[in-house]
Amino acid sequence: MTARRCWASPRLSCVSEPAPEFLRDHTTLRLGGPARHWVEATTEAQLVEAVAAADASATPLLLLGGGSNLVVADEGFDGTVVHVATRGVAPDADVCEIGPDGEPAHCGGMVVRVAAGEPWDDFVALAVARQWIGVEALSGIPGLVGGTPVQNVGAYGQEVADTIASVRTWDRVDRTQRTFAAVDCGFGYRTSRFKAEPGRYVVLEVTFQLTEGSLGAPVRYAELARTLGVEVGSRAPSAAVRDAVLALRRSKGMVLDADDHDTWSAGSFFTNPILSADQAAALPADAPRWPQPDGSLKSSAAWLIEHAGFAKGFGTGRARLSTKHTLALTNRGQATTADLLALAREVRDGVERAFGVRLVNEPVLVGCTL
Ligand SMILES: Cc1cc2nc3c(=O)[nH]c(=O)nc-3n(C[C@H](O)[C@H](O)[C@H](O)COP(=O)(O)OP(=O)(O)OC[C@H]3O[C@@H](n4cnc5c(N)ncnc54)[C@H](O)[C@@H]3O)c2cc1C
Repeated sequence: MTARRCWASPRLSCVSEPAPEFLRDHTTLRLGGPARHWVEATTEAQLVEAVAAADASATPLLLLGGGSNLVVADEGFDGTVVHVATRGVAPDADVCEIGPDGEPAHCGGMVVRVAAGEPWDDFVALAVARQWIGVEALSGIPGLVGGTPVQNVGAYGQEVADTIASVRTWDRVDRTQRTFAAVDCGFGYRTSRFKAEPGRYVVLEVTFQLTEGSLGAPVRYAELARTLGVEVGSRAPSAAVRDAVLALRRSKGMVLDADDHDTWSAGSFFTNPILSADQAAALPADAPRWPQPDGSLKSSAAWLIEHAGFAKGFGTGRARLSTKHTLALTNRGQATTADLLALAREVRDGVERAFGVRLVNEPVLVGCTL
């Protein structure tokens, strides 16, 4: 595969280069072969132009954010990889009603527009520092802001759907910009319309509506509440919530650390399975079952994996389960994508044999299948 490096400004221009850009240098699993074309899009105009140019020439396209939810084939990507590198955080205004005295009253919060290429955790840190409330429990999640609506990123009782007001996109089918209010984003557990129609929408900017104050949103997650020493449903200072979440995540290898192979992962590899009442009834009595609004039940992928015989650290090869977290499949340093997928199949098939539940991968697979 010959590599070309391209710039999208002022017009798309490319030069052939002997050394291709490898996806393994841009994914948190540190896996993935070379990209045929590589475009670094630092402005929104470059981003749209690069995508439109790939579409016009029917070239396969991979949008790359932080690479923290991607498993890319060892063969690489035979098309254009557009790396989203746009930046900018624009706090619009306090959302306040004007009181009878003409002064702002009943302030509902802050509306903040964030470019797709902003690192997610930098934005969370800024929000906590400015006392914008609603994303503090999402501290420490890798990747970029534009990736967060795609799978409705969530952790420790919060998800971005709670605070996203709208998502501005480039629609590759209609070749126009489209802005979706939160209600039209199709948000659900680790999903959205952007995931349901893969590749159609390029997220350009996400607008958050955050309340203001020093106390974080009510803590909904029991482990986080215990760590903070508060009851579930009560509130704690948002800075303390961020610290507690980061500490919990570090103990599970869920904060990136180049020196710790337990963090060379894509986070949770399998989503928690959503089961019918009959499927849930067939599980052992002590298996977790969380009722969902539609009558289905969510179980715990980690519980099923552990009880199917795959303990933390499972495996002897170059890809193994994290020693800190059963749900994370990790590259111990020399793994290939083939190694990782073989481990994923072993775990998925073992769980299915033990419990009749087929786990589904959370990361996006590029050029490979499970
Ligand atoms: C250690 C670790 C911990 C994690 N913890 C969590 C967690 O607690 N909760 C959670 O939900 N996730 C978690 N993740 C998964 C991941 O961090 C999130 O899904 C993140 O939002 C992915 O963003 P990204 O920029 O890295 O996307 P990428 O991995 O680069 O891309 C993921 C998908 O989104 C698409 N995409 C990326 N940017 C755009 C864009 N601008 N427009 C349209 N499509 C786009 C890509 O094409 C791809 O299909 C974790 C991952 C790791 C490695």
